[in-house]
Amino acid sequence: MREIESIIQQYAQEPGIIAGVCSAEPFTEIRDILNESETPFVNYDVKTRIDPAGSMPNCKGIIVIGVSYNKKITAEFDVFSLTRGRFSINACGTDYHITVRKHLEELAALITEQYDLEYQIYVDTGPLVEREILYRAGLAWRGKNNTAVSDKIGSMFNCGYMLVNIPFVNAPRLKPRCRSCKRCLICCPTGALSKDSFDYRRCISYLTQKSGDLNPYEARLIGNNLYGCDICQVVCPYNRDKEIGEIQDEDEIFPDTNGILSLTRREFALKYKDRAFFWRGLDVLQRNARAAQENNTNR
Ligand code: SF4
Ligand code: SF4
Repeated sequence: MREIESIIQQYAQEPGIIAGVCSAEPFTEIRDILNESETPFVNYDVKTRIDPAGSMPNCKGIIVIGVSYNKKITAEFDVFSLTRGRFSINACGTDYHITVRKHLEELAALITEQYDLEYQIYVDTGPLVEREILYRAGLAWRGKNNTAVSDKIGSMFNCGYMLVNIPFVNAPRLKPRCRSCKRCLICCPTGALSKDSFDYRRCISYLTQKSGDLNPYEARLIGNNLYGCDICQVVCPYNRDKEIGEIQDEDEIFPDTNGILSLTRREFALKYKDRAFFWRGLDVLQRNARAAQENNTNR
């Protein structure tokens, strides 16, 4: 193993972190399926989405990391409350765009001590399909809930990658390990998941992030969720006992929807500028809060 790979492997010894490498060959294997299960938040053309050289012409390899956000919820929640909504666990704590980028910058600094490294970092901002990089790096396998699942940290993690000027070879691909389990398919409340496909148009996580109005059917589907949905991951046995922290504060995960509806733009920025949903803006959050209140009332 080269020194650079051992630096990366050493970094991945930290709890809640996975890291690996792969080649920068175009991801031609996903060309034909790109638009089937992808949410329409990405605006790049197909060529740029599959070819790392489209983002960095001298790219020779990719370094990828996953950072767990899996936390135990110890905050108490009044299940009969008509005004409380819910953020996904991923939306609690500091915005992962900030934390994952920090990890990648730390790793780049360690490598730069010994290598002439040129790199570009992406956390949700790049054209490549992150989970395909994870599969190619042998770090995760595809679960029936349409997430990348790692043996070490499960599927509740955020991913970022670095295009670099150093070549790497691919690791062996991991085979899916769901076997006969169907928990996520059974527990998804909207039927977005089926044995062979994922319909993002019915997924609460997508609906709470999309811009514009929700039609009455979509508004009903989101239930009391304000941003994201955890169900198909919380029920997954590969996420069990892999928590790396706790959520103790009720308002952090189950905020009062009246409070959200009364926020001004300035208050929203002050209160939530370091949270993962801040990029979506106050209008979308308040739209979801109105739907959550109505759904709570009609339960
Ligand atoms: S995030 Fe929620 S709605 Fe989307 S597939 Fe998973 S359980 Fe279903
Ligand atoms: S809940 Fe079961 S079927 Fe779904 S991803 Fe996890 S292991 Fe696979």
